[in-house]
Amino acid sequence: MVTARRSLAERIREAKTSAGRAAGYCWLAHPDGGAHCTRRPHEDRRHVDYYNGRTSHTDTHGTEWTE
Ligand SMILES: [Zn+2]
Repeated sequence: MVTARRSLAERIREAKTSAGRAAGYCWLAHPDGGAHCTRRPHEDRRHVDYYNGRTSHTDTHGTEWTE
């Protein structure tokens, strides 16, 4: 049984109370998990995890998504 995707509202709530947010990150969780937005908190819908999802050391950033 696959865990149901958490809703955006749930992930936003989690981000707002997370250590990542305290460290100055947006920290919204990726819908598929495994990544958190490491941009500064922002108003646009483009989220990027600069540390996860890179396929090589030369990639400037990793997982990127919009919601
Ligand atoms: Zn973000």
